[in-house]
Amino acid sequence: MTERIYLSSEILAGDVEVIDCVPRNDGRYSVRLKSTLFHPQGGGQPSDIGWINEVAVVHVAMEEGEIIHQTTAPVTQGNAFARVDGELRQLYSRLHSAGHLIGHVVELAIWHPIKAHHWPGESKVVFKAREDAQNVSAEDIQVICKNFITEDLPCKVTQRDDGLREVSFGHFTPYLCGGTHVTSLGQLGDIKVQAAQMKKGHLTVYYDVV
Ligand SMILES: [Zn+2]
Repeated sequence: MTERIYLSSEILAGDVEVIDCVPRNDGRYSVRLKSTLFHPQGGGQPSDIGWINEVAVVHVAMEEGEIIHQTTAPVTQGNAFARVDGELRQLYSRLHSAGHLIGHVVELAIWHPIKAHHWPGESKVVFKAREDAQNVSAEDIQVICKNFITEDLPCKVTQRDDGLREVSFGHFTPYLCGGTHVTSLGQLGDIKVQAAQMKKGHLTVYYDVV
């Protein structure tokens, strides 16, 4: 099983060991690493992209329990140098962390987050009403989010003994999460809550970071 360095470190470039590299049916190559800096697609967050040596890594996915790096050309077994596209990673971490923040803020109005999708241009968090759930508007959510961004609440990651990982911002109750995050909410910059749509006991909050 590939060690997931991205879970405990923000490091974006370093030495890795290529275990194997096999051609795929789609013309790409499947590369397994002993340990990886790349966040695979999942948990509502897109895959990192980048390079192993000079070969492009165009997608990273969990396939049959293994982290598979899809490359455009073969890479040789043994030691290699890996780099994650840092600009995209930062955008994905900001969008994902903004989803956490919206989750915390809307929970204050007694809604329970059930689903999240943190992709550029289509980010949203879906909530289910609890008893006594209060009406919330996009404007309210945005104002409260901005207050916490100004407070620059720090991200805290706790690796539990059972293998799960808890991620919290400031005083909020942690979420179980395997994604990547900003180190504090100030890095989110400006958050734009585009809409808060209520339908059949569900509330969907659409947002972007700018
Ligand atoms: Zn997360």
